[in-house]
Amino acid sequence: MSKVVNRFLKYVKFETTSDENSATVPSTTNQLEFAKIIGKELEEIGLTDVSIDENGYVMATLPSNMDKQVPIIGFIAHMDTSPDMSGKDVNPKIVENYNGEDIVLNEEKNIVLSSTDFPEIKNYIGKDIITTDGTTLLGADDKAGIAEIITAMEFLIDNPDIPHGTIKIGFTPDEEIGRGANYFDIEKFNADYAYTLDGGPIGELEYENFNAATARISIQGTNIHPGTAKNMMVNSMLIGMELNSMLPVNERPEYTENYEGFYHLVGYNGSVENTEMTYIIRDHDMGKFNIKKENLKKIVEFLNYRYGDIIVLNIEDSYYNMKEKILPFIEIVHIAKKAMEELEIEPIINPIRGGTDGARLSYMGLPCPNLFTGGHNYHGKFEYIPIFAMEKAVDMILKIIELYTL
Ligand SMILES: [Zn+2]
Repeated sequence: MSKVVNRFLKYVKFETTSDENSATVPSTTNQLEFAKIIGKELEEIGLTDVSIDENGYVMATLPSNMDKQVPIIGFIAHMDTSPDMSGKDVNPKIVENYNGEDIVLNEEKNIVLSSTDFPEIKNYIGKDIITTDGTTLLGADDKAGIAEIITAMEFLIDNPDIPHGTIKIGFTPDEEIGRGANYFDIEKFNADYAYTLDGGPIGELEYENFNAATARISIQGTNIHPGTAKNMMVNSMLIGMELNSMLPVNERPEYTENYEGFYHLVGYNGSVENTEMTYIIRDHDMGKFNIKKENLKKIVEFLNYRYGDIIVLNIEDSYYNMKEKILPFIEIVHIAKKAMEELEIEPIINPIRGGTDGARLSYMGLPCPNLFTGGHNYHGKFEYIPIFAMEKAVDMILKIIELYTL
């Protein structure tokens, strides 16, 4: 078994599920435990400046072995797994020489990774694939990224004749709950550019993501006994429904793809007296993103005019498209693309329909495109990762480092 696989199989055994309802940093203590184990391993393989801060961020340096000045490059991955599915007692299974058929993950519970539901698995016929046992997620998102980065660093330490600049590595907690960049110390990290290894299938290279906002709406109704309600009752739930009906139906997640943005109703909690609604608003294009927010404001204004100022709207931006921050340094994308091409990996460049830590970091001053780890079907029991894709990710990291030395 190759080193990257051994590492990966070891890491997924640690439960590191993050918790959006927790106010602590990191959100769960077992992430901190995992950080310590990773930190120890980084010291053992010979990285310098290994640190684990009280927030659970792990950082380390591979010092340059060249006289020539080259950019300082960072590689970043996250330690937590999604709270969408249990990451406890992960019991990975290796399917050797995959034959293209359905994979029975769990005979007892009749859980099957279907090649009809997930046809892209047929790209891996003849390869070895790591799956779950059907009861948990796998945690390739993003422990594959961690295993790949560490394995690449170990390779460079074991082969000191290979020239490289200074490399920084960083592992963050709580990415899955949107807090991965919160306490990332950019100054301490001190890289010129970085790459997150948090993408999906082999070839993925991403440097565009959504602009994102959350809209919270509070509607104050008037509750009166229904028997004597005439001309007095204001049913806030019905006004909420009216508001929703004024938003474009075709601009919902279930009807959009690629560069199409959306309004997504994620919460509706109502009584006659009071209704609270939450939308998330997404668009890659800043102009269209602003128009979406404006449109919602106008709808609320109109309803306030009709019903007399009973709706309060609060829109808060969450993150922005990193493209704007990457474009001035677009060569970092070109280098990643070139690295893949030299390794005969076909680059797949698509806009992310979500956010990444890299997007936040890009806005904090560290331009940070996202690279594949090789995994599929993140956040659920059908998550899997082909072994060769992890090995290719290690090669890609090494190739990127090499290209920066030229
Ligand atoms: Zn991830």
